[in-house]
Amino acid sequence: MATKNQGFKAIVELCDNCERETSHEVSVEIRTESKKQENAEFSREPYRVSKCQSCGEETSQRMNNA
Ligand SMILES: [Zn+2]
Repeated sequence: MATKNQGFKAIVELCDNCERETSHEVSVEIRTESKKQENAEFSREPYRVSKCQSCGEETSQRMNNA
């Protein structure tokens, strides 16, 4: 099976906005949390950002809460 590489992972997941499963563009962003003034080194957290290809709704979720 050949896989098209469009520079991002496209996955199918539920979109709250569309209220159905749609194709999402998924990427990982490092975001700085400015709330904590101490431990600035540890305030950069990876977020999983998924964007609905149907409506454009963007959802971000912190990744390191395992
Ligand atoms: Zn959507």
